[in-house]
Amino acid sequence: MAEQESALRMLIVDDEPFVQRLLATMLAQLGYRNVVTCSSGTQALQQLTRSVVDVLFLDVNMPGMDGVELIRLLAQARYCGLVVPVSGEDSRILESVNRLLSAHQLKSAGCLEKPVSRARLESLLQSLKPKGSAGKLPGAAPPGTLGIKELHSLLASGTVIAHYQPQVSLTSGALVGVETLARLRDASGATVMPNRFIAVAEEYGLIREITRRVLQCALEQAKAWREAGLRVGLAVNVSMDDLAALDFPDMLDGMANALGVEPQSITLEVTESRVLQQLSTVLDVLSRLRLKRFRLSIDDFGTGHSSLAQLRDLPFDELKIDRGFVDGASHNCTLRAICEANVRMAKQLSMSTVAEGIETQADYDVLRDLGCDAGQGYLMARPMPGEELLRWARERAQRAARDCG
Ligand code: C2E
Ligand code: MG
Ligand code: MG
Repeated sequence: MAEQESALRMLIVDDEPFVQRLLATMLAQLGYRNVVTCSSGTQALQQLTRSVVDVLFLDVNMPGMDGVELIRLLAQARYCGLVVPVSGEDSRILESVNRLLSAHQLKSAGCLEKPVSRARLESLLQSLKPKGSAGKLPGAAPPGTLGIKELHSLLASGTVIAHYQPQVSLTSGALVGVETLARLRDASGATVMPNRFIAVAEEYGLIREITRRVLQCALEQAKAWREAGLRVGLAVNVSMDDLAALDFPDMLDGMANALGVEPQSITLEVTESRVLQQLSTVLDVLSRLRLKRFRLSIDDFGTGHSSLAQLRDLPFDELKIDRGFVDGASHNCTLRAICEANVRMAKQLSMSTVAEGIETQADYDVLRDLGCDAGQGYLMARPMPGEELLRWARERAQRAARDCG
């Protein structure tokens, strides 16, 4: 085992001394040198103030503070290592705990069912091995959200950039569109991901500025792609705050016109994670965007507060099935049933569907068989800079032509 892995700092939290010893022994046998055990959530939190933890094995059922409560406190404490829920309950409980972790933006490394087997533990730890170019320990997570001052100064130095993730037709495999994803570049040249700045920008009224800059990048890029012979749909994420500005449709129309990009090729992805406050303004803006022929998509469908109510009230053309339902749909019947219901409902409402977060061929096949129109995910490609996307599209088209001939 690499030095880097055996040095991972592990914490076992379980009220049963037997389980603590068993797990600790197995970890030692697998070569992990830094293992600490605790018998309650309170002790675990104390331990976390004393030393960094990379992987935390968390018993979901504990007397006193249970696993769910501890997860909430870990999120508050901005714990940035991995969590492995451990439980003797049925697998649906472990799945809902996993979803809770992602709702809190904590990282899960997969679950362990009790009694824990050495083989399962080993394969779980195997999956933690540093992959790809990142090559970092899992515990070396990105530091938390930006402060408002940091965000201000990043925006002042003028470095909002856009990356693009391909969306492909699930039946033909052809590239049909790209989703634009914002990133910030800091002074050292490092990339800052949206989970570190979008929420702050929304909270402090800076999101409109970010949206304007992202739109400018994306529209210029679409123009450049066209000149290079690539025509694809362009999706851009917008916040509810953008849609609360009555001049947004005219601003967007003006920008698109100036660069010669048709509104029909632009899809605005609206996230419904925030409760709608000014329904009348948002309805006004969305209706005018539709009249101007922009496409509207409801993003992360099914994760927010009022997804169905929003579908009823707002004029969407497309439904994006959230990654949380897509990832694993091939081996989990609950997820599959949710995807199926979403696709069926979208069809009845004459909306197209896009599945997000497809990472495996098995999930791809399931979504295609359910009749979902398009998909995006690491299986096809990760988000990438605009020039790279051009190369990616050409290579894909060449490969498709070769496969046909
Ligand atoms: P989103 O709009 O749902 O975008 C999809 C996110 O899932 C992207 O993360 C993308 O990189 C990631 N993703 C795509 N395929 C896979 C996959 O197969 N596996 C996994 N694990 N992840 C995948 P990213 O770029 O970090 O963006 C996160 C969120 O930040 C976006 O979620 C969107 O809500 C928000 N965001 C990004 N750019 C903007 C923007 O310009 N404006 C606004 N308002 N929000 C933005
Ligand atoms: Mg999106
Ligand atoms: Mg989404």
